[in-house]
Amino acid sequence: MNADCTNSTLFPLLASDTTCTDLDQFVALLGREDCRKDEGIIHVTVPFCDSICSFCNAKRFFKTHEALRNYLQALKGEIRLWSGMKYIESSDFGALYLHGGTPTTLSSDELKVLIQTCKDSFNFNADMELTVESTTHNLDAHKINRLLDCGLSRLYIGVQTFDNIIRKNLNRTDSSHVVAETILQAKKLGCEAIRIDLMYNLPGQDTHSWESDLLKAIELGVDNISIFRFHLYPNLKLAKELQSGVLPPMPESKIADDMCNVALDILKDGGYQQQYSSGFTLPGKKSRYYDLFYKYQHEGLGLGITNWFFSLLEKYSFRNTDELGSYIESIKGGALPISMNKRLSDDQLMKRFMSRGLSSAVDKTVFLKRFGVLPEQIFPDQICELEKEGLINRDDREIKTTPLGSNTLRSCRERFS
Ligand code: SF4
Repeated sequence: MNADCTNSTLFPLLASDTTCTDLDQFVALLGREDCRKDEGIIHVTVPFCDSICSFCNAKRFFKTHEALRNYLQALKGEIRLWSGMKYIESSDFGALYLHGGTPTTLSSDELKVLIQTCKDSFNFNADMELTVESTTHNLDAHKINRLLDCGLSRLYIGVQTFDNIIRKNLNRTDSSHVVAETILQAKKLGCEAIRIDLMYNLPGQDTHSWESDLLKAIELGVDNISIFRFHLYPNLKLAKELQSGVLPPMPESKIADDMCNVALDILKDGGYQQQYSSGFTLPGKKSRYYDLFYKYQHEGLGLGITNWFFSLLEKYSFRNTDELGSYIESIKGGALPISMNKRLSDDQLMKRFMSRGLSSAVDKTVFLKRFGVLPEQIFPDQICELEKEGLINRDDREIKTTPLGSNTLRSCRERFS
């Protein structure tokens, strides 16, 4: 960014491709009231873990007490900066989502303070949804009770697999027995919704092991199950272990495709319905967060270091730095740690709405309200093609991918890029 811009000192980390005009308009937006009053989401990243999984490609750090203390201090500072802005002061939020790393590496007291600070600083609606991501080895009854006292609506446990040999290969430090016991304990203590994620295409995994994972999750009665295909990135520790032959190979691509189809059948038979591309839920247990995120796209703010989440306020899409040191220094200097900020055109916003919406459903009423036209008026060719190819269904209310479209979601979404 040009250092001569009037507002450049407010954003010391901002990349050079933001124009002075866009930045001035962004600052002006923050200084006025939010008239749209869409229910937004507050995302908070806790980028620390107390053990590092060999398959993980996320930006996260091994927890040290000093690093965590400094980070929590900076987070509080960022919350203070945002909550003092007129736009945010007048905004409504429908969900608070703590994601990782692993938020439950925080102590019960640290979690309570962080959640309470957010609740005291932003206008959450009375029925807001609070989701906390966790792993089972740092989640005991005391912590679960504390989270419930804070209003926990949804506990998201990263399970990946119940197969103990594969868990060990992934450097998961606890056994499937501990995972199952923790899930049952959380239910007993009163967690109303538990979501877990499971991965297929893992080294040493076969269809039988994958089916067992799905059946175990159903037997435990978890409310939401997300399934992910493991992708091998060359930088992963797991990639090196595979290369050196320490680990058994990954399934062949055709078998991995079959694993996905098997999952759809097993989850359907188990009574789960698809809420978004990778997420399946029991009836009546839909997550509000995912509807806000995919269907209504009331996105809101991402706090903390960020490497995937883009905040969106009206036409401004922006993201914090993913560098821990820069983040903390920026907050210490009283400046927002935003490293990227773009003003999106209506055309970009509409394409974004369609592309993201296809992960769940494109709500035509919301589209009409936001852009003053229906999707079919703007994208007649793309919608017609997708429909002819059997990849989407549509009615008066929404546009949704068919099972075939869900299997080729990326290519469906690319029609709107
Ligand atoms: S606990 Fe989660 S964020 Fe941390 S290393 Fe494992 S998968 Fe990655």
